[in-house]
Amino acid sequence: MIRHKRLKHRFVEHIPECLEPGVLYVSMEYATSAHSCCCGCGEEVVTPFTPTDWKMTYDGETISLHPSIGNWMLKCRSHYVIRQGMVIEAGPWSQEQVEAECRRDRAAKRRFYRSSVQEQKKVELSPDKTSKTGFWVNIRNWLNRCW
Ligand SMILES: [Zn+2]
Repeated sequence: MIRHKRLKHRFVEHIPECLEPGVLYVSMEYATSAHSCCCGCGEEVVTPFTPTDWKMTYDGETISLHPSIGNWMLKCRSHYVIRQGMVIEAGPWSQEQVEAECRRDRAAKRRFYRSSVQEQKKVELSPDKTSKTGFWVNIRNWLNRCW
C-alpha cells in the first residue's frame, strides 16, 4: 500500500534528521536523496546517486528517480517508482528477485569500484589521509549491504 502518491521535492544541502512524509529531499552537494517511505511506515529511504545506484531526472518542475525503489530491507517491503513526482506502486519483490538484484548490484559495484578499492588500500597505508576513511567505509557498507 502506498500512502503518499506524490512527492514534493526539496533541494537541500544536508538531508535533515527528521524527514517530512511526502517530501523528497535532494542534496546535490552529497549526490543523494532521501524520503520517508511512501507506504507511510516512516522509515527513512536513502537513494544515493552513483553510476551503480540511482539516477535523478529533474525536468524543472518534478523529479524522477531510476530505477525503482525496492525497500526489501524494510519491514514493509514496499516497492515503487518515482516518476515526475508521482509515486507508482510496483509489484512486491519475490525472494528470487531480491537475490537477483543483490547479485546484480554486487557485480555492478565490484566492476565499478574495483579501481577505487585499489585506491583505498593506498589511502589506508598513508596515515595522513585518514579523513577519507569514512567515505570508503560508506562504500564498503554499500558493497556489503546484501550479504
Ligand atoms: Zn514503508
